Amino acid sequence: LTVRDRLAAPGRKFSLEFMPPRTAEEDPTLWRAVDRLKQLRPAFVSVTYGQGGSRRGKTAEVVGRIIADTDLTAVAHLVTVGHSAAELRATIDGFADAGVRDILALRGDPPGDPLGEWTKHPHGFSYAAELVELIKSMGDFSVGVAAFPEKHPRSPDLETDTRFYVDKVRAGADYGITQMLFSAESYLRLRDRVQAAGADVPLIPGIMPVLSFPRLIRICELSGQAIPVQLAERLSAVGDDASAARAIGIDHAVEMAETLLDNDVPTLHFYTHNRANAVIDVLDRLGMNNPVPTVQT
Ligand code: FAD
Repeated sequence: LTVRDRLAAPGRKFSLEFMPPRTAEEDPTLWRAVDRLKQLRPAFVSVTYGQGGSRRGKTAEVVGRIIADTDLTAVAHLVTVGHSAAELRATIDGFADAGVRDILALRGDPPGDPLGEWTKHPHGFSYAAELVELIKSMGDFSVGVAAFPEKHPRSPDLETDTRFYVDKVRAGADYGITQMLFSAESYLRLRDRVQAAGADVPLIPGIMPVLSFPRLIRICELSGQAIPVQLAERLSAVGDDASAARAIGIDHAVEMAETLLDNDVPTLHFYTHNRANAVIDVLDRLGMNNPVPTVQT
């Protein structure tokens, strides 16, 4: 089944994002997390593409292994930055050869500073919408795109940003996944804007339990999002007390998820950073830890 099929099924569900390991030492961390989290039956999992278009072979390798070794639906992220159209076509063919039927189509950020100058590859694309069109022209892939409830940092205003998201849906995207949220309200406002514009494909909110104050600041720096004041105050108030900060991060993720579920959002997407514990804690609290019964032999 593709993500498109999984999202069409009724009921509450969740999905997970993993990253290809950067070094051989990180390999076991990823696969341990996949092994633990797959038991909670995610609707799908996705695997990121190296920042700036780096380590491109890794995504196909990790997604291919997940597809071969598990019964999970797995999505390969793909970015346009740094690639010609011909390279993108070859990568999409490589994904298809690895059994991939789901792709998250992204523009990507420049290598180094994500908010630095964006340069189009001379034979590449300027925007993710063009990648959506390319992927759709190459076969029956299920394609997702990124959405930004507080607007993408390069967009002039929320309305323009929403219009460009809707363009991606018109180009053929089957669903959207948001940047990691700090408030449920920002997601709900985006959903209203998108629905008013007539784009009715599923829009999945992205959640990451943020377990420390420095981590929160780093995420905001990298993503260009405003620092969420209340969460920042709660986290900084506990100083170096890691377990208190962890509890605050989990509480915040749970509260946000509960508001979303109460507002008829059926699917939640969790950024795992290849760590299982925090996501398992949040799913436990939400009653969404739907483990497969262990077969006793
Ligand atoms: P676009 O949709 O192309 O938008 C980029 C900018 O251009 C926006 O400001 C948009 O408003 C503007 N724009 C769009 N169309 C037009 C137009 N026609 N005219 C003028 N302006 C326009 N990065 C990675 O490197 N690897 C990953 O695996 C990865 N995974 C991600 C997963 C999710 C769920 C999200 C939310 C982001 C992910 N990113 C990843 C980051 C993403 O690549 C960056 O945020 C990037 O800057 C934006 O990508 P996009 O696909 O939204 O681009």
